[in-house]
Amino acid sequence: MVFCSNCGKDLPEDAYFCPRCAMRTSKGVEAGIATPWEDLKEAFSKMGEEIEKGFTVAGKEMEKAFKTARDKIREATSKEPTICAKCGEENLPRAKFCYKCGKKLAGEST
Ligand SMILES: [Zn+2]
Ligand SMILES: [Zn+2]
Repeated sequence: MVFCSNCGKDLPEDAYFCPRCAMRTSKGVEAGIATPWEDLKEAFSKMGEEIEKGFTVAGKEMEKAFKTARDKIREATSKEPTICAKCGEENLPRAKFCYKCGKKLAGEST
């Protein structure tokens, strides 16, 4: 019985590669069989494509989330400034008193 030197799986007598982990068997080494790196490379590059695709999708989702958050912030901060009725000074939207003359600004609790 032949066992894989890498994962320990029992192998067919004439196996050159482990069917479980693709490790080259001593028989494969003896026979001078090259490890099919090309196949591995292909498999890895395919895997890379899939991963990249996943990232692209995640990136789009993230972009959307950021955009939504940004719009919300803009909405919350884009209120018209409160104009003081006495001196005409522009105060912050949530200001209760004019920062220039101290007059109570029209708004919430008048
Ligand atoms: Zn193996
Ligand atoms: Zn004022």
